Amino acid sequence: MRSLTVLGSCAAWPEPERACSGYLVEYDGFRLVLDLGFGTLTRLLEHCPGGTVDAVVITHAHSDHCVDLNGLLRVRHYGDLTLERIPLLCPPSVAEYVDRMEPEPRLHELFDIAELPGTHRVGPFEVTGLALPHHVPNAGIRLTAPGLTLAYTGDTAPDPALIELGADADLYVMEATLQEIPQAERNLLTAREAGAFAHAARARKLLLTHFWPGRDRAVSLAQAAETFAGEILGAEEGLVIPLSAAAGPSGRGTARR
Ligand SMILES: [Zn+2]
Repeated sequence: MRSLTVLGSCAAWPEPERACSGYLVEYDGFRLVLDLGFGTLTRLLEHCPGGTVDAVVITHAHSDHCVDLNGLLRVRHYGDLTLERIPLLCPPSVAEYVDRMEPEPRLHELFDIAELPGTHRVGPFEVTGLALPHHVPNAGIRLTAPGLTLAYTGDTAPDPALIELGADADLYVMEATLQEIPQAERNLLTAREAGAFAHAARARKLLLTHFWPGRDRAVSLAQAAETFAGEILGAEEGLVIPLSAAAGPSGRGTARR
């Protein structure tokens, strides 16, 4: 099975029944988690009891993207299963942030920590983190494996690197926090900008996510459709997107809830 499961879709803090940023990528039995924001761990454990994932990738040291890494650390440390160390790819500030939550266990005891930005081989994937502008160091993520390219922005201001990050991606997961360009300096994208960058990158499919709590998400999807002509999906907790390499002779997969 090759798929992306949305664990959480909210920016900043979770709405009731929702969670913040988190995605489970499954590729022929290998399970990689992208971000672990507020509320994602309980959803992850529905798919991976005991925290049995194979790799974790975190984009940046904001709690809506990494706070539940502490929970995964606890599950793997205190749980009944005996688990091997797994790769944890992240900017150094992420490990520092999570290790400040409690004195032990330390992340490096359970994870082989590798630094982003940079490129690393993880299971079937080549994982590349590209520096993108945000309030804190943020690594946009590009995952490639035979037959699949998946890209994910984390949180970012508009930047030309977003075209490189998502070039020819089968699925481009893009934060679309804003619906209008604010007066003040910002470090996040509007939905229209997300669509425009996905178009420039020639991405095949766009998944909008990281919606500001309380906003009408249909507005964001409509705005992205002004700049991106391909298929656009809105992230919803539990949404499973088959990844194209596994879609079989019919080509592209279709989203299902
Ligand atoms: Zn965020």
